[in-house]
Amino acid sequence: MRKRSAKILATVGPASSAPETLNLLHIAGVDAFRLNFSHGSHEDHARSIKYIRDIETKSGNSIAIVADMQGPKIRVGTFTNGKMTLQYGQEIRLEIGNHSANDALICLPHPELIQALVVDDVLKFDDGKLMVTITKKTKSYLLARVDVPGVLGDKKGVNVIGTVLPMSAMTEKDKVDMEFALAQKVDFIALSFVQKVQDVIDAKAIIGDQANLIVKIEKPSAVDDIEAILKCTDAVMVARGDLGVELPLEQVPVVQRKIITVARALGKPVIVATHMLESMIDAPTPTRAEASDVATAIYQGADAVMLSAETAVGRHPATAVAIMDRIINAAENDPSYPDYYTRSTLRPQATINDAISQSVRGMAEVLNCKAVLGYTRTGSTVRRIARERPPCRILGLTPDKSVASRMALTWGVRAVVMADPESFDEMIIVTQEIAKKQADAEKGDKIIITAGIPFGRPSTTDTLKIATID
Ligand code: PGA
Ligand code: MN
Repeated sequence: MRKRSAKILATVGPASSAPETLNLLHIAGVDAFRLNFSHGSHEDHARSIKYIRDIETKSGNSIAIVADMQGPKIRVGTFTNGKMTLQYGQEIRLEIGNHSANDALICLPHPELIQALVVDDVLKFDDGKLMVTITKKTKSYLLARVDVPGVLGDKKGVNVIGTVLPMSAMTEKDKVDMEFALAQKVDFIALSFVQKVQDVIDAKAIIGDQANLIVKIEKPSAVDDIEAILKCTDAVMVARGDLGVELPLEQVPVVQRKIITVARALGKPVIVATHMLESMIDAPTPTRAEASDVATAIYQGADAVMLSAETAVGRHPATAVAIMDRIINAAENDPSYPDYYTRSTLRPQATINDAISQSVRGMAEVLNCKAVLGYTRTGSTVRRIARERPPCRILGLTPDKSVASRMALTWGVRAVVMADPESFDEMIIVTQEIAKKQADAEKGDKIIITAGIPFGRPSTTDTLKIATID
């Protein structure tokens, strides 16, 4: 049984999609798996989903599945020799098209992008490795000056710096992928390259309550509007890969702190992602700086940390998870760890949920409680309790299996799938048993129970009970 509170989200890929490997990763510490819809076929993803659900059933641990949409990732077309060389200061031409047969021409299969670009806009290619600035715009093409030279390969990614593009965060491919993922009953849809609140509203309109939504923050315009965007979403990812291309890289740590702070205040689960143990794609141990990066995210209050290429294509997927697990445990066992998030107490909203959540934390501190057990129909009460970061295990009790799986990404929460009790007395008996099993509670220990009585109606948590294990 895991003791840590922060969660591990790991990306599935060729290095990890075999059922034994997925199981090994779960045992090593994975609480949630990410399926990256930029790669792999629907058959591949369906197979992974089946294997993960089998592990969930066999282990009895709730596991979240995240379907990560590719989003409007812009790519250059192809070149005659598979690549083109950009020289410093060279003038190149940009046109609508798929293939360039000319050594000073880049074709872009994105008409709306060519239309939106204006003089002085900056384009970066291949994760920011090359850079050009637009110098001239005509009806049929653009001219650009090469500022950072290099070799540009077929279909490499393009980032447009500092411009809000007239593009939705959902492409036609995303809509097809999303429909597939929802039919497969994934727990979260992750939306890439969100630029504005409307992107979140549009995605929510399609998803409804079939899954929860994670917005990936990787565009400066989303950072500028972070509060409004986070208010509309269920969860958020600090997507540092693209973020560090779109923004000067020194802004990544600043923005990471800001997103975590806003997400924590709103009580939305926040995932810190990308390059966390990057060197483990090849090496069997991470750098000390990478270990420190994971710990920093934990100290800052992240709900979850993510592995990308480390588990998708890396040479040591299970070791990467095991090391991440050790780093999180070490940070959480640091006696000064709670200071990092209790120092800034979060203001409760004027709701019954928040009044109860705040009281839960106070009671857990005063009575040194072993666990809080929250009956929940949607997971919302339990997320508000987790927002308070009480110093005890949080057990989310729900009859709904998919609500349980969604809770796997929330800090400190362990979900238990079970029917609601018939009566208050039964509740007291059942919760004691669960606390013994799931939180090492022993005779004489105190536990806290939250519930909506009578049972069975959503959003009616109104009861707080302290029980002593007998
Ligand atoms: P990606 O998102 O891996 O889908 O690009 C994460 C990031 O950009 O950091
Ligand atoms: Mn990205």
